[in-house]
Amino acid sequence: MESVLAPSGGTDVANGGPVEHGFPHLDTVRAAITALYKRLSYDTVRSFAVSVPPADVAFSDQDDLHLGAQRVAHELVRHYGLPDARMIISFREMTHAAYVELTAGPEYFIELNDRFRAHRRDIGAALAHEVMHVFLHRLDLAFHGTRDNEILTDTAAAYLGAGWLLLDAYREDAASSQKLGYLTPEEFGYVLAKRALLFGEDPAIWFTSPQAYTAYTKGLAQARRDEQQPPLTAAGWAGRRRYAKDRRYAQDHCDPGAHPGAPYSFSTAGRGPLSVSFPCPTCHQRIRVPVQGRVRARCGLCRTVLECDT
Ligand SMILES: [Zn+2]
Ligand SMILES: [Zn+2]
Repeated sequence: MESVLAPSGGTDVANGGPVEHGFPHLDTVRAAITALYKRLSYDTVRSFAVSVPPADVAFSDQDDLHLGAQRVAHELVRHYGLPDARMIISFREMTHAAYVELTAGPEYFIELNDRFRAHRRDIGAALAHEVMHVFLHRLDLAFHGTRDNEILTDTAAAYLGAGWLLLDAYREDAASSQKLGYLTPEEFGYVLAKRALLFGEDPAIWFTSPQAYTAYTKGLAQARRDEQQPPLTAAGWAGRRRYAKDRRYAQDHCDPGAHPGAPYSFSTAGRGPLSVSFPCPTCHQRIRVPVQGRVRARCGLCRTVLECDT
């Protein structure tokens, strides 16, 4: 089994063509967060409350290339809790940014694009992704298909505290753009914001790239919208109005009806009482509650308490 870290758009790390923006992979990103909770459990996710500190993965162009890469990899191995794994790092010319051979271990061979010799500060980002592959491989957690599996890898790296490095490697100026990983900058921002909301953390202070900061604020806005969807009481006026209309339809017709674009769906067990299901704003596991006004629910997967007005 193998894994490659592709740069955006093209085959070169620094000039990969136009960077994709927005939230095209949001469904897969959310499924990845749910899968992480299911596979790791609530307690293990909570054990990642502290992100990789910038000082631990700092890598200047004056540092020795191999010793420095080895040191940063070791920090990531420690952060992800893979104490017996050893990363052997080498550099070579290749089209991809990085590559890891997923074997039984305990030694794993990671190859980094030669280009990182001159861009050492981004080595931490590439390794955050590649070492996460090893973490997921050992958990035996994978999504079907390369694209979805890479999105899972980026999402897991970001949610478990090392992915801010990947977003910070996104830089654009008049002459060039560079981005690592498979999520768009805004999607990285989204996962980092979900994490920030969970742990009360502010990753914005770590960004050295102004574009990364902008993407983070967009991701944060999207993450906040997750918390403001009906039937959650935090939902806005327009959302609540539409919800009431959809609920009335379901009640009047004894038919859940179709509500395209709405995150919730109604159902009746035969002619039984109406219930509504919707994604948990934290872990995106679907939750079902009876339609009976104010309801407090607790997500069984991530334990978030949800105030609902059904
Ligand atoms: Zn990968
Ligand atoms: Zn949840």
